[in-house]
Amino acid sequence: MEKRRSGSRGGRLWVGYLLAGGLTVAAYYTTVRTGGPPALRVTLYCLVSASAAAAVLFGCVRNRPRSWLPWVLLGLSQVIYAAADANFYVTHFILADTSFPAVADVLYLSHYPLVVAGLVLLIRRRNAGRDVPSLLDAALLAVVAGMLSWLYLIGPQAEAHSPVLVKVASVAYPMMDLAMFAVAVRLILGRGRRNTAFVLLSTNLLAFFAADSVYVFQQLNQTYAAGNFLDAFWLSGNLALGAAALHPTMARIADPGAAPDRGPGPLRITALCAAALIAPATLLVQYANGAYSSIPVVGCACAILFVLTIARLAGLVSEQRRLAITDGLTGLRTRRFFEAELPAEIARARRAGTPLAVLIADVDHFKSINDRYGHPAGDRVLVEIGRRLRHATRDTDILARYGGEEFALLIRGTGGEEPAVIGERIRRAVADSPIDIDDGHRPIEVTISVGTASFPLHGKTPADLVGAADRALYAAKNRGRDRVVDWPAEEPDSDAGITYLQRIADEVDGWLSTREHGRAVGRWAALVAEELGRSPASVRLAELAGRLHDVGKILIPKEIWEKRGPLTADEWAQVRQHPVYGYRLVLAVPGLGEVADVIRQHHERFDGEGYPDRLAGTAIRFEARILAVCDSWAAMLADRPYQRARTEAEAERELLDGRGSQFDPQVVAAFLGLRARGALGALPRANAAQPG
Ligand code: GH3
Ligand code: MG
Ligand code: MG
Repeated sequence: MEKRRSGSRGGRLWVGYLLAGGLTVAAYYTTVRTGGPPALRVTLYCLVSASAAAAVLFGCVRNRPRSWLPWVLLGLSQVIYAAADANFYVTHFILADTSFPAVADVLYLSHYPLVVAGLVLLIRRRNAGRDVPSLLDAALLAVVAGMLSWLYLIGPQAEAHSPVLVKVASVAYPMMDLAMFAVAVRLILGRGRRNTAFVLLSTNLLAFFAADSVYVFQQLNQTYAAGNFLDAFWLSGNLALGAAALHPTMARIADPGAAPDRGPGPLRITALCAAALIAPATLLVQYANGAYSSIPVVGCACAILFVLTIARLAGLVSEQRRLAITDGLTGLRTRRFFEAELPAEIARARRAGTPLAVLIADVDHFKSINDRYGHPAGDRVLVEIGRRLRHATRDTDILARYGGEEFALLIRGTGGEEPAVIGERIRRAVADSPIDIDDGHRPIEVTISVGTASFPLHGKTPADLVGAADRALYAAKNRGRDRVVDWPAEEPDSDAGITYLQRIADEVDGWLSTREHGRAVGRWAALVAEELGRSPASVRLAELAGRLHDVGKILIPKEIWEKRGPLTADEWAQVRQHPVYGYRLVLAVPGLGEVADVIRQHHERFDGEGYPDRLAGTAIRFEARILAVCDSWAAMLADRPYQRARTEAEAERELLDGRGSQFDPQVVAAFLGLRARGALGALPRANAAQPG
């Protein structure tokens, strides 16, 4: 209430000031026309400029602008200007001293730097960040003004036959005016609110510039007479500045303005176009008059205007493109951009022989978020998810809002297990902390489901790739949401194949009288993989490979497995074929290439002394190193025709002894850690009635 009243009082004050000022100006012109006493005339004139200085300083105290420095600079400049006016009019009209340059000119000229400094500060405060378009527009207007000034003011003054001091002062005025004009148009065309105080300040600047320019021109042509219409411009310019400072909106004139989301309006384009055409039009006028002057200056101006126009155009085009490929809500790329990039990226990956991953994420139960908290809250959730996804990905990845609450990610040079790792990273980025929708009052838990696919493994065309990621996403939703599903470990096409292989694995277990061996190894392998922080895809791979690791044994005569007593060298050679047999069997099922690889390697040793490929260390797949430990553990605890079961303590000793030779030490540590915590569950027991 208090604020409102003081605001309206402030409103009355600036209007009152303008009215009183208008009356003073009218009285001034009456005195001029009626040839009233010079002292009255001078007093009336100086009253106006001095009142403007007083109004600015008073406005600063009264309205308390947050950014006070620009106003103080403008106020000081006006104090100097008023002093110059007083000096000029008293010496001219009362003392009849018309020497030029005089003290008044020093004062007039020194008020400009303060104005420019104040305006530059205002520009910087109002334009947070860079504002290239306004800069270019202002430069265009300044170049045109500079050219005209050179042709009609500065050039003729410089060439006039006059004493040096007179010449310096005469040239200094249009130059200073030009500097003021350049920053003024930059301020006027730049960002920030155009409130009443701003409009009044702009009026002041433009009125001064216009009056000063005409004044120099009239001086050159000896048509200037004190008391002509120019005084009205100067006087109203002064009043506009005073009123601007008295208006309450002066306090917020330096507030930063946001970048406009639209391009230049028709008015600005027309004005810029007309201004730019002045340069070639000048040439035509000179041509028509048959009197060319300063051709290099006009030519340079034309060239600069041309470059500025092209630069402005390039900026507009790139801004339009940015808007077209940017999602309005989240600031991510649009689906259209994603779909345009995907074929190009696939072609590039094909040429380079590198993989490419596509991830699609969908917010879980988003509809209920909208229903419970409202659509605007839903929007805020989407914005926050977009921010988290961007944070969790690299700048070189293409991250798009793919649909309402779906996001798509394209990652170059990424295949194998990496997409699932990245999927897990973005899933966590969303799920790890609740999302704030109203300043901490109701943080809500939000999760996403992610489907991944990679080129060339799961699709070679954009449609196939996105389709594969989409099916994986669908699978993730089906399995309970808040998870990552990596194609094609669970491809429906391979389901029948997996079931068939699982039957074979059970059959082999039956032969060896080690029921549940494959299931247990699969379960342990998944636990160990998880314990070692492997990706979800790796965990699933370890589990499936563990489940199926012995299927190759089905191709080795049953008699060998049932034989009592030691095996012959030839029989051992056959037994050692089972990883390769298993590999071939599993490879026959589409989509199980990686599972086949792991099975082939599960009898490799860490020191390179294993079979069939004598791989060593990390050349052996991580999942195969896990299987080696889990399989050995199960085997050591089982009675086999050719060996008795060991105790758990003995088996543990064997694992520890095998670290670095047979086994990967970190896998042994993880396995024994799980066992110590009782996480492995019941062990499969050998059939006591096993034939020997
Ligand atoms: P699911 O876990 O199966 O994905 O469940 P869901 O509720 O997320 O299901 P669905 O994907 O069908 O629902 C998407 C909802 O997202 C429907 C629509 O109202 C809402 N939505 C789409 N775009 C926007 C948006 O820009 N803002 C908001 N607030 N909601 C949106
Ligand atoms: Mg959806
Ligand atoms: Mg959804």
